[in-house]
Amino acid sequence: MDEIIDRLKKVRKGAMFIIEAPSGTGKGTICKELLRRDPNIKFSVSVTTRKPREGEVEGVDYFFVSDQQYDEFLAQDAFYEHVDSQYGSRYGTLRSEVDSFINVGQDVLFDMDWAGARQMRQKAPDDVVTIYLLPPSIKELRKRLINRGTDSMEVIEQRMSIILDKISHWDEFDYVIVNVNLEETITKIQKIISGERMRRVRQVGLKGFVKELVNEVKNSN
Ligand code: ADP
Repeated sequence: MDEIIDRLKKVRKGAMFIIEAPSGTGKGTICKELLRRDPNIKFSVSVTTRKPREGEVEGVDYFFVSDQQYDEFLAQDAFYEHVDSQYGSRYGTLRSEVDSFINVGQDVLFDMDWAGARQMRQKAPDDVVTIYLLPPSIKELRKRLINRGTDSMEVIEQRMSIILDKISHWDEFDYVIVNVNLEETITKIQKIISGERMRRVRQVGLKGFVKELVNEVKNSN
């Protein structure tokens, strides 16, 4: 019996979890914790045409490619989603990279905006699960950005100025969580992940398993 359950677990199809939030809500902190606590979740590494910044590692931060290579990927429809940044660099999520994880039962986590999430949902509707995080208040959001200490006041104000546009897409997401308490939010997301792993479409071993059950019934009659 245990052997069957074990086998079922091994033939699970992974899911693609997209988490989005207005800057400062806690998305980065939460993603890092989810990855640290569950080795079955992998982070999706994007392709980019921009040059590596100091300390960035190929295959860890990004896959750095030339414009020509990027165009080839586009022509082959090799991306789940792609975007041209306003600064001229281009970014994309390679299907092959993501599929290599989900086909062996590992889940993939994406740090992606609503536009990317929309493209992903269109291309892989059964595999994509989207989660939107909201701050408890705008005052608290500003406080978190200031406390984080990574942005100048000018950048913080810039982030705050696009918040309405960001928040307006909240209802395109499957799950919405207000990130009041960090630990509680992480627990909630872990529960979402557990539930999503049990969906019938992800338990790809079930067909064979039920067939065996049916045979067992037939043979015992
Ligand atoms: P984002 O990636 O969404 O821009 P960060 O993960 O960098 O946000 O979080 C912004 C700041 O808020 C960080 O200093 C982080 O430690 C803090 N933070 C995250 N979640 C909470 C929370 N629930 N309560 C208080 N502070 C939080």
